[in-house]
Amino acid sequence: MMGHEAFDVDVAAYALDALPSQERRAFETHLATCADCQRELVSLQRVAAGIGASTDPMNPPAGLRARVLSRATAQPQDLPVPNTAVPVAGRPVPRVPGRYGVWLALAASIACVGLLGTYAWALRAQLTTTRELLADLSVRTEALRAQLASARQDSATLTNAVNVIRSGRVIKVDLRGQGTAPDAAARALVGQGGGLVFNADHLPPLARDRSYQLWVFAQGSSEPIGAGTFDVDASGSSTMAIGLPAGVTVVAALAVTDEPKGGSPRPTTSPLLLGKPVAN
Ligand SMILES: [Zn+2]
Repeated sequence: MMGHEAFDVDVAAYALDALPSQERRAFETHLATCADCQRELVSLQRVAAGIGASTDPMNPPAGLRARVLSRATAQPQDLPVPNTAVPVAGRPVPRVPGRYGVWLALAASIACVGLLGTYAWALRAQLTTTRELLADLSVRTEALRAQLASARQDSATLTNAVNVIRSGRVIKVDLRGQGTAPDAAARALVGQGGGLVFNADHLPPLARDRSYQLWVFAQGSSEPIGAGTFDVDASGSSTMAIGLPAGVTVVAALAVTDEPKGGSPRPTTSPLLLGKPVAN
């Protein structure tokens, strides 16, 4: 079964009814089980409706199809037979198209087929343009989504930070660099309400599949509890504001280790940052 990525652009074409039938069936099978595509389709259909309303429809000239079909299906015996009979008194002479008429009909058929071809070509060009436009739109939508997720993250960080500052008693923890990160330093503020604001600087960059993990030692326990993972920017800095792990009321120490992406249930490497609450 193909993944969602394989259908990213197909959603746009599908919304325009521009998918070839084989692709359409494959996409519909995927669509039935993919909430992302269903959501995307609804929003793209709105866009497509807007495009349809603002673009001149490219309809073939009225009656063109009927004319072409009648030319194409006309049998030789349907064409008038050359008439050599002498006029009968009182009756009109039948019209005689003769050979010239047959050639005229053929020329008209060719002209009609040519027009249809031009029409199909123009329609295809329009669909290609619209497909590209929608693909571009979905890329931009994706970028906006990423920005929104990032903004939500910032907002959550700020809310947590404000909660720490507002709490009556704030404990400060200074962490010093250890082992392979001697220049690293970090500071954490732990609020009475269980919030924690953490800032680290000069941490070395990690491989793509690794992240830093913050650990909390609760008072009276030597078992570190994972409090969240983070990545550092180009200068080795990171800031986060989080809630303390459930059950932790008094922080005895904080540590940071280098762990596989997503974090570990318990530390798998030696601490790169370590610190205890500053007495005040
Ligand atoms: Zn999908």
